[in-house]
Amino acid sequence: MLKGFSAELQRILIILAICSLIGFFSDNYALWMLLGCGVYILWMLWQMRRLNQWLLKRESEHPPEASGIWGQVFDNIYQLQRDQRIEKDNLQAVIKRIQEISSALKDGLIILDARGCLDFWNPAAHRMLALNTKDQGQSVINFIRHPKFVAYFEEGNYGEPLEIPSPRFSSKHLQFQITPFGKMERLIVVRDVTQLHNLEKMRQDFIANVSHELRTPLTVINGYVETLADNNTTPSWNKPLQQMLQQAKRMSLLINDLLVLSKLETTEAGHNHKPINIEQLLAVVKSEADVLGKEKNQQLTLVCNNTTKPLLLQGNEKELHSAFSNLVINAIKYTQAEGRISILLWQDQKHVYVSVSDNGPGIEAQHIPRLTERFYRVDASRNSGTGGTGLGLAIVKHVLMRHYAELKITSEPGKGSMFICVFALPQ
Ligand code: ADP
Repeated sequence: MLKGFSAELQRILIILAICSLIGFFSDNYALWMLLGCGVYILWMLWQMRRLNQWLLKRESEHPPEASGIWGQVFDNIYQLQRDQRIEKDNLQAVIKRIQEISSALKDGLIILDARGCLDFWNPAAHRMLALNTKDQGQSVINFIRHPKFVAYFEEGNYGEPLEIPSPRFSSKHLQFQITPFGKMERLIVVRDVTQLHNLEKMRQDFIANVSHELRTPLTVINGYVETLADNNTTPSWNKPLQQMLQQAKRMSLLINDLLVLSKLETTEAGHNHKPINIEQLLAVVKSEADVLGKEKNQQLTLVCNNTTKPLLLQGNEKELHSAFSNLVINAIKYTQAEGRISILLWQDQKHVYVSVSDNGPGIEAQHIPRLTERFYRVDASRNSGTGGTGLGLAIVKHVLMRHYAELKITSEPGKGSMFICVFALPQ
């Protein structure tokens, strides 16, 4: 830059020197000086015009020839343009690569702008949701109108993915996972989970059918064994018949629990929901459990800490009854004779809590996260005597999930356990 500047300075000095010399000899100094300055200004304007024309002609590669400061300006701008072009080419190569990767993906990718409108999508998303170029800028809710998706999208809680039938092909099932990024933009990953969904459906149907088919023969066997045990006159048959009866009853319980679970899995949650008086429901559960508790001389109490109006929860009475019953019966089953079991109902501004606690043997910490798995038992040998099916807490978990509630378990070995059902109140 300095080189160009000094060359320019030289040029000015030469013009001024020539003009002053001519002016001196022609006796018209001021006029020649003015003329010199004018010529220089005109030359400057001409260079500016050349620069402007060159900048406007985007396709022209090389800058116009010029000396002095203007040569330097042309060269610098040309260098800047070249750097920019290289940077642009690099960026375009990266974009092309990303586009190739996103095109190769089997999962659909959709990018939404801050308003929730379509900004970009890959070919897989186009195939799954029939998105076209003219749809750019439209709200995603116009294309995926399923109420569950609308609620999921608007709620903004994207921790878990959402599975719904495909809006385009009714036989397909899609999973949507939204991830917010940047300035309120969102990335939606769409996955075809039809195969998984069908497998899960097959598993559910299989369990439901097997349980259903086994129920009738088992009832018949149960009936005959009962009759045989009642009318048995041979003492050596007493023990085997009692054992047969006990095992047949255990199988019936298991099948009933499996049927309850498969019904919970296969039916849509929210049906038959009505306001339930929880205090009354817990009183029914307690009175049913009292009989069992008395057999072990246990003390069973129910305390409801809501002094004002009756506590109503929107839900399915049969399902909630089964969940609370399972917790209370477990407490009775696993707590020693003379033990204490208490059922508590209370609420705060956001939640309703139902807890069942006992001073039984307690559960070691490593088992607690797995208790709600099907057939999981802390100690299979200890529980075989309790006649449990290993499905009780799985049923509780499912019922609570269907009521947007959760189960919290705290326990200390040797001291007792507490199972708390936490229901969120509508805000
Ligand atoms: P089960 O039919 O065996 O009772 P559940 O699913 O109801 O099956 O319970 C799973 C396991 O959790 C039980 O086998 C038992 O080991 C443990 N458990 C449940 N409730 C209690 C409790 N109140 N005290 C101690 N252990 C419990």
